[in-house]
Amino acid sequence: MLKIGLTGGIGSGKSTVAKIFETLGIPVYYADDAAKELMNTDAELKKQIIKNFGTAAYTNHKLNRSYLASIVFADKQKLEILNSITHPATIRAANEWIAEQKGPYIIKEAALLFESDAHKHLDAIIGVSSPLALRIKRVMQRDNLTEADVQKRINRQMDEAEKMRRCDYIIHNDESTLLIPQVLALDKKLRTMATAAM
Ligand code: ADP
Repeated sequence: MLKIGLTGGIGSGKSTVAKIFETLGIPVYYADDAAKELMNTDAELKKQIIKNFGTAAYTNHKLNRSYLASIVFADKQKLEILNSITHPATIRAANEWIAEQKGPYIIKEAALLFESDAHKHLDAIIGVSSPLALRIKRVMQRDNLTEADVQKRINRQMDEAEKMRRCDYIIHNDESTLLIPQVLALDKKLRTMATAAM
């Protein structure tokens, strides 16, 4: 079974693309959602977060996301510490999930695939690419944020062009290229690759 990564900047449409793959019967692991869940449930991870960020990181045993965000988004070093704590746990959880799946290939969807070194555990990476202005418009609508808020989030991620250069396949989600035919073509290619790898 091949392990395929799916990444792209915030608002590029990677969750949308992942859902299309799901309709084709491909299992998809949503790494960012899983990481949020793990921070609430994994005892060792919780211990590490409290050790580094204090007991205020949890309120009634639930992660205090706004408190943690206010720390890590103001201080790059703190963000690196948080990532170094969470990434090994999330990679472990993803690998456990992968071991239970069946099919020609699985997809792991994550915003920070390269940043978290998760790409090293994958056979190929798909990048979803969208023009910056469109990404900003989509996230403003989806998350009810101002343009400045969205820009701040984008600035914290790896440069989009650099990210796409490192991907093996690119899906263009730019309102002029249809998404579904691109996903269908890639699915066909990946199934052929998976058969060849067996
Ligand atoms: P990401 O997961 O990369 O942050 P999403 O897949 O959530 O991005 O897409 C951001 C927003 O834009 C969502 O509300 C989504 O429904 C919308 N969107 C993405 N791609 C398209 C598209 N091709 N057509 C219409 N809406 C789209």
